[in-house]
Amino acid sequence: MVSRVIPVEPFDLVVFGATGDLARRKILPALFRRFCAGQIPGGTRIIGAARSEFSITGYRDKLAADLKQNTSEKICDADVLAAFLQLVTYVPLDGSGETGWPALCESLSASGAERVKVFYFSVGPALFEPLAERLHSYGLTNAATRIVVEKPFGHDLASARDLNRTLASHFDEGQIYRIDHYLGKETVQNLMAVRFGNMLFEPLWNSQYVDHIQITVAETVGVLGREDYYERAGAMRDMTQNHLMQLLCLIAMEPPAKFDPDAVRDEKLKVIRALDPVEPYHIVRGQYAPAAGAVGRDLNYRETVDNQRSSTESYIALKTHISNWRWAGTPFYLRTGKRLKARSSVINVMFKDAPHSIFGEEAGRHANHLKIRLQPNEGITLSVTIKEPGPGGMRLMDVPLDMSFAEALGPEGSEPADAYERLIMDVVRGNQTLFMRGDEVEAAWGWTDPIIADWQARGDVPKPYESGSTGPGDADLLLRRDQREWRGINP
Ligand code: NAP
Repeated sequence: MVSRVIPVEPFDLVVFGATGDLARRKILPALFRRFCAGQIPGGTRIIGAARSEFSITGYRDKLAADLKQNTSEKICDADVLAAFLQLVTYVPLDGSGETGWPALCESLSASGAERVKVFYFSVGPALFEPLAERLHSYGLTNAATRIVVEKPFGHDLASARDLNRTLASHFDEGQIYRIDHYLGKETVQNLMAVRFGNMLFEPLWNSQYVDHIQITVAETVGVLGREDYYERAGAMRDMTQNHLMQLLCLIAMEPPAKFDPDAVRDEKLKVIRALDPVEPYHIVRGQYAPAAGAVGRDLNYRETVDNQRSSTESYIALKTHISNWRWAGTPFYLRTGKRLKARSSVINVMFKDAPHSIFGEEAGRHANHLKIRLQPNEGITLSVTIKEPGPGGMRLMDVPLDMSFAEALGPEGSEPADAYERLIMDVVRGNQTLFMRGDEVEAAWGWTDPIIADWQARGDVPKPYESGSTGPGDADLLLRRDQREWRGINP
């Protein structure tokens, strides 16, 4: 099954922070791959901007080297690469000063007012407001302008509100694309397709049939390279307030009346607003530490951030409830952490046992469960109970009905599209469905802030857990107290 490529009109895209990690590893390779797929037409202009001095040729050379490193050999054909580089220019510019802005204006003046102009803020959050202000004061905004704002969107509710207010003074909400790359993942969108495109699941998608839901985002990497940011953020701000919250919304929301940006985001917002405050004893915070005898870089959180008294969590597990008719009584268990035993993002929807077993005790109790794998090996597995083969009575066993999206959907040899490819092209097309609205972000901070304030008030210190493990033992207790257990952290 070959995915359809819907070309767009030529557009201008300015990447602020074009020399940074995100732009080099994700944004520019995503644009290149869309170009290779035939989606980005000639006449499109991609303008890199950052303070570093580069000539246009110098920047193109550097970009060519990055693209060779960050895209597979299969698509990195020399002629195609050369054609792509012709779309790219570079302007040295200070986002918080005035240097380079006249040159950027000059460069953009060549295209008409109606042409879509995307300004991607791939810079630290301190630059979001200065960039928005300068785009406005240099006359670079009109109805065709869109801005893409990276995470973190604020540090708490007050700062998110301030940022929303500043952006709103220069742009309509319809021009602001707050990116959470999790929402661009194929499986995340498939969550909506599976739920709302099939009759099969939706009637069962409620507290009458679902025992509980687990959302796990596990990483094997530590915080090396992002120490300063992470020490200020921790797992709650870095992952829970945004990525896990978005997954929770998509899994729990009511069916929107249509697949349109505001209809979807209205339903997500209702989920966040219906979230119960989390009791302190329903949260486990952890911090990675080396296993006995283990040596290596970044196995010890406190050493990595150079703060032996750090109380920032690199792991969090929590239990929450959604107080509405659909979900009352069904707990949602969320966990995320760094330096865990495997890299995997998985949602497990655990259905209840059948109300009565006609096969007797010896057949065992079996409950269905739906495992949604976001990464790696994107796909869905439904565990179904069948009879154990062979004579000797009726014993039951679980077998997986497994669908790997790569096998089911990918033409042979194709690579799945990266989330950034989809999201950037959505910005160009003007589709905000997979981007967070201002009120959603504020509501998520509104739920998170009291939890963090409580830790600070109590001087809470995270529990150490061994690097390479599944996290602190207390996280297991969180479920065991409810006679449940975590599904394994497996890809
Ligand atoms: P980074 O590697 O530190 O890059 C920052 C970029 O900003 C560089 O290109 C830098 O270039 C430019 N810059 C800094 N000060 C500037 C100024 N005054 N005017 C113009 N440009 C300036 O950061 P990053 O990792 O790419 O992250 C960028 C943003 O994306 C951050 O908000 C981050 O939280 C977010 N994000 C990153 C990732 C990731 O995987 N990296 C993932 C999710 C979100 P010069 O020094 O040449 O000016």
